[in-house]
Amino acid sequence: MPLTQIQAFHRPDHIEGVWHLLQEGPGVRLMGGGSELAIRCPSEVRVLVDLAHVGLDRIEVADDGSITLGAMVTLTDMMEHPELRALPSGVVQEMMVHVGSPLLRNAASIGGHLARGWLSDVIPVLLVLDASVELFDGEYRTATLDRYYRDGINDGLHILTAITIPPASNGQAAAFLRFSRSAYDHALANAACLVDLEEAHVGTARIALSGGFRAATRQPASESQLVESGLTEADIAAAVSVLEIDAHSDWLASAEYRSHLARTLVGRCLHLARERAGGGS
Ligand SMILES: Cc1cc2nc3c(=O)[nH]c(=O)nc-3n(C[C@H](O)[C@H](O)[C@H](O)COP(=O)(O)OP(=O)(O)OC[C@H]3O[C@@H](n4cnc5c(N)ncnc54)[C@H](O)[C@@H]3O)c2cc1C
Repeated sequence: MPLTQIQAFHRPDHIEGVWHLLQEGPGVRLMGGGSELAIRCPSEVRVLVDLAHVGLDRIEVADDGSITLGAMVTLTDMMEHPELRALPSGVVQEMMVHVGSPLLRNAASIGGHLARGWLSDVIPVLLVLDASVELFDGEYRTATLDRYYRDGINDGLHILTAITIPPASNGQAAAFLRFSRSAYDHALANAACLVDLEEAHVGTARIALSGGFRAATRQPASESQLVESGLTEADIAAAVSVLEIDAHSDWLASAEYRSHLARTLVGRCLHLARERAGGGS
């Protein structure tokens, strides 16, 4: 649908003003970077509400090292921020170079990206970094990013206002991998992991994967399999064997192929993280 369907464009300067407009019905849509809306604006949309003037464009680092990103922070801002680059194994940077193109990353906001919630390389990485989101739906609420998708909070009427990444600890190593048919294609599958090797044994293990279209999911069964393990070949194989993969078939690849890719990517991510944590290759 062309954007000529738009009859009104609002730029409120406070969150209550945004919320007031949003409640007018399904013809009203929030706009972050506008990159998705510009090519796939739903036909019922007549009014856009731009979040550019609400003050959601800052990255703040707290004394404890946690990092809070306003929803209008762009993917380029994230890629270039020193504290985000310093997160375990440079995993934010490792992932972000694969997201679309530099021009897209200059426009796309992290709030728009997460609210969109599909075909995402960013979501698996934020899941393994244990990110949480703040949203406004008449009042401010917080939820882990995992719950935001798992409990369908992303499907309800809300304004995503901020994302917080807790401080990393020493000894954590992470990895992100994706598979796509060309550099600019969306990934057919992707995966991220983070492990904390304490005296050669895994303390924390987080794994997230996506079999393509849908938002990535955490993998609690595989994560439990790794805790207290030595992250040996057998431990990695056991963790991969209990992955729960919700892949889909389309014109690009079958669900079976995407599942196979996702399993392979998780195994490779775990090997990479082990190597990065100094636990051998
Ligand atoms: C050509 C192209 C290629 C891409 N390739 C990749 C890729 O390889 N990897 C990848 O991970 N991603 C990719 N993306 C997705 C991209 O990273 C962005 O997520 C996406 O374009 C949306 O970001 P935006 O800020 O422009 O959202 P917008 O277009 O502004 O909004 C998207 C949706 O979110 C809603 N929304 C916006 N902000 C908020 C908010 N704060 N709270 C609640 N709802 C909100 C809007 O109403 C809309 O429904 C691609 C996108 C395009 C267009």
